[in-house]
This record gives sequence, structure tokens and C-alpha cells, in this order.
Amino acid sequence: MSEKDISCSFCGRKKSDVDILIAGITGHICNHCIDQANSIVKEELAQKSHSQVEASLTLQKPKDIKLYLDEYVIGQDESKKVLSVAVYNHYKRLLQPQSQEDEIEIEKSNIVLVGETGTGKTLLAKTIAKMLNVPFCIADATILTEAGYVGEDVESVLSRLLQAADYDVAAAERGIVFIDEIDKIARKSDNPSITRDVSGEGVQQALLKLLEGSIVNVPPQGGRKHPEQKLIQVNTKNVLFVCGGAFSGIEKIIERRVKSTSIGYSAGGQDIIDEENILSYVAPTDLKGFGLIPELIGRFPVLTHLNPLDSETLLRILTEPKNALIKQYVRLFEMDKVKLSLDKKVLDFIVEKALEYKLGARGLRSICEAILTDAMFDAPSEDHNGELKITLDYAQKKFGKSKISKLKVA
Ligand code: ADP
Repeated sequence: MSEKDISCSFCGRKKSDVDILIAGITGHICNHCIDQANSIVKEELAQKSHSQVEASLTLQKPKDIKLYLDEYVIGQDESKKVLSVAVYNHYKRLLQPQSQEDEIEIEKSNIVLVGETGTGKTLLAKTIAKMLNVPFCIADATILTEAGYVGEDVESVLSRLLQAADYDVAAAERGIVFIDEIDKIARKSDNPSITRDVSGEGVQQALLKLLEGSIVNVPPQGGRKHPEQKLIQVNTKNVLFVCGGAFSGIEKIIERRVKSTSIGYSAGGQDIIDEENILSYVAPTDLKGFGLIPELIGRFPVLTHLNPLDSETLLRILTEPKNALIKQYVRLFEMDKVKLSLDKKVLDFIVEKALEYKLGARGLRSICEAILTDAMFDAPSEDHNGELKITLDYAQKKFGKSKISKLKVA
């Protein structure tokens, strides 16, 4: 065959009609067919990875998400509802067919949870991640600083997510990041800074980049201690960010705003504000008043609050959730063939002490430990006839001897 008669084995174009004709073992391919084949490969691969994501995600309806949360988190109905809808929408967004003609782009629903420490913010985010079976990590905003300063760069947040995903980048890219203590990176004053504010506004600006959905170069091990490590590219477009913060003192900002704009329940023309529950009026503008920059607030379309825990809720937390503390202790003793039971009065006592020492739900555990440590020490070697009843008298005695009882009541 003469040079002139060679043609593309795919489209049949002659060598003279194309720019490039590449020879293979038994045939040829022209530049047009290479281009076309390339776009087919890209499309097929994108389709494949999308269906993989689709296959691994089962879209749960908001009501089902809430029911699941109810098993682990007590109370906080309002935030559970808001969170369920936000997560549902987020995953609907992920499952949306990526047709190019469709111009409706569903925006991400990053979430801010405002509530006192120990009210269940982390627990909510963690439980959602468990339900969705997606990688989840917790990062503390207080250790983040602007790049180049002592502390961690914001990219380290994604290092953690990658670690949680076992370095499966595709899985990490649809994970959930919980950033705790977001209130601690508030600008120190409402004025844009004159001096550099490396742990405040600087970090907020840096965080903004992650939240905006961009491709970020992430050091796989985190930190700057390994400058030689190869960076991994992570696209944050589909990562859901949930931030939590106590925003202590925000009530005053909310109150001022609410009173001046007088919203609330109207009774006889008079606006009544639920003073007990000022946090429930929290709005994005209050976060600005607190020192978060508007650009960052704009990236968190979902804002909700958690209620402080009262004695009734604490009592339920102690016994009701799927892995409630008391259930855990009962299981521990069961392993030593001892049937543990606590009088109702003991439970009330634990709650009362948690409230008294302002320890919130976190304190329940330390109080239980104080009461039960001796029993856990002795039970494996003693014969309790298979039963151990904790009475109020016993609990008071053991608690009285513990270190926590020496704490000063705030
Ligand atoms: P936060 O993030 O708001 O500071 P966490 O979610 O870490 O608080 O809560 C601390 C612990 O207290 C959790 O591990 C959990 O056991 C318990 N807890 C707090 N709030 C609740 C709740 N509403 N329901 C069940 N457990 C709770």
C-alpha cells in the first residue's frame, strides 16, 4: 500500500484529509477520532464515578433522618429538623444528574449550630455522618491560623478528612467536616482589623476558600512538619461543613436586635419575646455582630440553635439514647456476670450534680465514674450473687469522696 492510500481505520479519512494519522499494530487513527474517543472516555468515566457515588448513597428522607437522630440525640427537635432537611438537600444535590444543559445548580447547605458547650452539636454531626456512612472528621477552629503563622493551616482540616476516608479522595470529597468552636475565630472587634488578626479574620478568609468549593492542595499527613510530602488535590465542592460554637454573649446581640425590630409573638398588639429562649431568634446578622465576616456567614445558609439542657433532658440522656451511659455501664457489669441497677433517686442525684457543677451532659460521665469506679474495681473479684443495686446512700458516699465533689460550684 502506498503512503497516499493509508486511511484512518475508524472513520476512513485519507491521510491527506487529516492533520495527524497515528499508526498502530494493525491500523491507523486520525486526530479527529482521537479527540472524539477522548471525550467519550471522559464522559463514560464521569458517568461511572457518579453512579458509584449514587450506589453508595441511599437518600434518606428528612423524617427518616430525624428518626435516626432521635435514637442518639435527646431533645433539640428544632435543630434536628433543620439539620435533616439540610442534609437531605445536600445529598439530593450530589445525586442530581450532571446534565450540562441544566442550569439550576443547587447550592450547598453548610450549617452553623449555635448552642452552649455540651448540648449535642458534635453528637448531631457525628450521628448524621454515621447514618450516611460518609467520612467524618472533627476539627477545632482554635488551632487554625492564617498560613505562615504558628498553628495549623486550614488545609489540615482536609488532611483529617482524608485520613478518615482512608485516603480515598472520592469518598473524602463527599464527607462531612465538623468545625468546632467557630466562634473563637471571630474578629476581635467589629471593625476590619488595623493590625493583623492571624487567628481571627485571617483564618476566616482562609476557611472561606475551603467552603467556596475549590480544589485544595492538602498535605496528606497534615501540618507543616513534613515539607517533603506530596500534596493531594481535594475538591471541596461537595464536602458538607457543619460548624458549631457556643457564641457566648451572643444572646445580648440577639436581644438588642430583637427588641429593636420587635418580632415575637404578638399578644394584644404587644410583641412578646420569649426571654427564656433568646437563642432561638438567632439570625445571620447576629453572627456578624459577633465578629464573623459576612462572606463567611454567606457560606452558611443554614443556621440553627441548640437549647441548654434542663434536668429532664439530662435524665433522658442518661438512660434513653441507643448507647446511653447507663446502658453502657449495665453492659460493662454484664460482662462480669453482674446485673447492675440504679435507683431512680441515684439518676436524679447524678443529674442534680451535673447541673450544680455546670458540667452539662459531659459531666454525667464523670459523675457516673465517680460513683461506680469502686464497684467496677471490686465486682470482677467479688460474688454479688449476680446483682448490684446502687442506692442513693451509696452514690452520695462515693461521690462525696471523689475529686469532682471538691470542685467549686461556679
Ligand atoms: P458540643 O459539641 O455541643 O459541645 P457534644 O455533642 O460533644 O457537645 O456533647 C458532649 C456529650 O454529651 C456527648 O458525647 C453526648 O454523650 C452528650 N450529649 C450532649 N447533648 C446530648 C443530647 N442532646 N442527647 C444525647 N446526648 C447528649
